Amino acid sequence: MIHGPDELLNDYKSQIAVTRDEKELEQVRVALFGNSGAMTNLIKEIPGLPKEERSDRGRLLNGIKQQLEGAIAARLGELRVERLADIVETEAIDITFPGPPLGQGHLHVLTQVRRQIETVLESLGYQVELGPEVETEWYNFEALNLTAGHPARENWDSFYFTPELLLRAHTSPVQIRAMQRIKEPPIYIITPGRCYRRDAPEATRLPYFSQVEGLAIDRALTVGDMKGTLLYMIQSLYGIERKVRVRPSYFPFTEPSFEFDVTCGICNGMGCKSCRHKGWLEVGGCGMVHPQVLRNGGIDPTEWNGYAWGFGIERMAMLKHDVDDIRLFYESDLRFLEQF
Ligand SMILES: [Zn+2]
Repeated sequence: MIHGPDELLNDYKSQIAVTRDEKELEQVRVALFGNSGAMTNLIKEIPGLPKEERSDRGRLLNGIKQQLEGAIAARLGELRVERLADIVETEAIDITFPGPPLGQGHLHVLTQVRRQIETVLESLGYQVELGPEVETEWYNFEALNLTAGHPARENWDSFYFTPELLLRAHTSPVQIRAMQRIKEPPIYIITPGRCYRRDAPEATRLPYFSQVEGLAIDRALTVGDMKGTLLYMIQSLYGIERKVRVRPSYFPFTEPSFEFDVTCGICNGMGCKSCRHKGWLEVGGCGMVHPQVLRNGGIDPTEWNGYAWGFGIERMAMLKHDVDDIRLFYESDLRFLEQF
């Protein structure tokens, strides 16, 4: 059926008006303006018309074309508004609906390890003793036999507020304070806490770190008592198969002094890449308390003696969880922290 231009206009206008979605509207558009569309065909006929009719016909068809294009654009706008209204109705966000549950946090891995150490030593009768992080030079150095000019003081390079006040470089001052407070041995204490030294941050050290020291003062204590305590602590934390050894060393506040090692948990002491083929991992220092340190704490070294040890909590956590960079503990990266 051949449409005249007016019929074509009315016919397609009503078709456009009843389209139900953009796909249907596109079909109508193609039927009009596609390669063999109704409008396209009418325009193609123009060159075959007598010369005097061509321009009138051209103007007429052009007007109809513009009306139809306008009708299509208007319908497209209507359909889009209808679709948005649909989305608002069916997919709108219900702000009264409960949100996804918040993740539950847990204790930081260093807190977990510190509490485990405390629990093990408390089971042996040790008490947790805390002290100030800002210390006097006397408690931080002098009382611990690190007198002015002592070359070992360079190992405890510190942050000073005044010539007399500094951030403590170790938790050892708490041992002196505990002796002065408790006065009458026996004394069995541990001193967990934060320490500060002037070190640049790197994989194995930080300018701030946490220590635990232990101090036992009683009658006739021996290096064997000390080693037994360390062995019990290490086996409680890392497993019964672990062994402990002590090596001679030097600290101004103990005599004799030792460093203590624990067997590598990965190779069980056989030697592997993780322990640099030694079979042993260094943990900390220990020794029998120097008589002068006892005197500085107000304890009579002719009647009492004692042993002490100390190590970094970060170091213990690194050994326990096979972490190779101490900085990870303080970067607050949840991907790291959620593993523990
Ligand atoms: Zn190993």
